Formats: sequence, structure tokens, C-alpha cells
Amino acid sequence: MGSIEQRVFEGLLYGGFAVAGVVFVTLLFVTAPYGRHTRKGWGPLLSDVWCWLLMECVAMVAPLVFFLIGNGFRPGWVWLLVVLWEVHYVHRALIYPFRMGGRRKHMPLAIPLMAVVFNTWNAYLNGRYLGVHADLYNAEWLSSPHCIAGVLIFIVGSAINIHSDEILFRLRAPGEMGYRIPYGGFYRWVSCPNYFGELLAWAGWALAAWSLPALFFVVWTAANLVPRALAHQRWYRKTFADYPPERKALIPFLF
Ligand code: NDP
Repeated sequence: MGSIEQRVFEGLLYGGFAVAGVVFVTLLFVTAPYGRHTRKGWGPLLSDVWCWLLMECVAMVAPLVFFLIGNGFRPGWVWLLVVLWEVHYVHRALIYPFRMGGRRKHMPLAIPLMAVVFNTWNAYLNGRYLGVHADLYNAEWLSSPHCIAGVLIFIVGSAINIHSDEILFRLRAPGEMGYRIPYGGFYRWVSCPNYFGELLAWAGWALAAWSLPALFFVVWTAANLVPRALAHQRWYRKTFADYPPERKALIPFLF
């Protein structure tokens, strides 16, 4: 990486941490208008299946491109991190949107556009870092406790995320669009175990990758999902009089 690119990279990284703080505070007051929180006044609407496809395909393809630019197809253990990332995003981009059910909703175009900006930003930081620093991810790294623990946490988090989303999908009959109280799995403890699993997965990935760009991604994931879990929790309690009062919003027994 040349010195100019290095400066751009650091600006995007450190600036990105600051922006995440602003986004977090903003989302505590303004819930992102999609799903149950969709409302008028956010510009043109687009089918949510297309929106998920668009934004998540960027998160699937762009990091690989940035990684390959830096790595030049060299083999090595760094591919483990790339493969974990790709498995997550192949599912999110190409399977998840079609599991959501037949008759679907719309979301403001602004949501996928903002997501595409963030996903490109994140893809550049993480893909480029892994490509340029591929040599750090050697056999010694592979046997380190943080790598082993991180990969296991990623797998557990992903399993919780996918299982929890599947419970939600099964709540609706084909063509239905309403909401029910979810039960089973981690819903026993929290209102948004899909978000909990997502956060856990990326925290695990960051632990394994042990890099500032990976930390950047976890911080942004939390900045998005913590306020949204609180908004879901408030919505569930307001909507269902019999909503289990002991359920936390996001982290079992804690929060
Ligand atoms: P939600 O939990 O809000 O919704 C997931 C799906 O389940 C939607 O299709 C939703 O329908 C449906 N659903 C939710 N609750 C109910 C219910 N009580 N009854 C019936 N159907 C329900 O998740 P998001 O849409 O916000 O996120 C989807 C996935 O993307 C999650 O796995 C999440 O972790 C991930 N994600 C990751 C982010 C990141 O920063 N890495 C950011 C945002 C999401 P409907 O659309 O009609 O509400």
C-alpha cells in the first residue's frame, strides 16, 4: 500500500469509528424505516427482496475483489477468514432474501443505498487489509487461542442467527404479512436473537482476524443492531399485551 493509500485507509478507518458513534446515537432516536418500522416520508420504495439482494451482494463480492487485488491469489491460511466471510454473505445475499416468504413488503430506497455505501467502505477496509497483510495469517496464527476461539464463536453466532431467522419465517403462513410472538430457541431469553447471533458471529470473526478493520465492522454492527433491538423490544411490548416480560432485548440475562 503506497503512502497516499495508507492515509486514505487510515482516514476511512478512524473516521469510520467516529461516524459509527454518530450513527448509534441517531438510531436510538430514529429507527431505520424498514420491516415493522417502515413509514412514509423516506422517498421511493422498492421491493425488500431486491433491496436485500442489492445491498448484500455488495457485501459478498466487494471484499473478495479488494482482497484479491492485494493478495494476488496467493494461498495461505488467510483464506479461512475470507471463506467464513463469504459463507455468511452467500447465505445473506442469495438465500436469505428468498426465505423471507412469498408476498413481500417494500422499503425506502434510501436504506439499500446507505447499506451499499457502508458495505463498500467495510469491504475496502477488511478486504484490502487481509490482502495486504495476508502473511500475518500463518500456521502460528491458525493455532493461536484467539483464532480458534474466534472461529468457534463465529460458527456458534452464525448458527444462532440463522436458526432465529428461521423461527421468524415459520411464524407466517404463505402470503401472510403480520407479526406473532416468536417462541423457542434463544427467543426464550431475548427478543432479537438473530441480531445477537449476528453480533456474536462478527465479534468472533474480529477476534480471529485481530485487526482494526475487523473491530470497525463489529462496532458498526453494534451501532446498527443495538438500537434496532431496543426498538423491536419496545414495539413487541406495545403490540402484544401477553409479551413475555422477562425477555431481554438483545443479550441473554443482561440487556
Ligand atoms: P427482523 O428480525 O426485523 O426480521 C427478520 C425477518 O423476519 C423479516 O422478514 C421480518 O418480516 C420477519 N419477522 C420479524 N419478526 C417477526 C414476527 N414477530 N412475526 C413474523 N415475522 C417476523 O430482522 P432484520 O430484517 O432487521 O434483519 C434481517 C437479518 O439481517 C438478520 O439476520 C440480521 O441479523 C441481519 N442484519 C445485519 C445487520 C448488520 O449490521 N450486520 C444489519 C441489519 C440486519 P418484516 O420484514 O415484514 O418485518
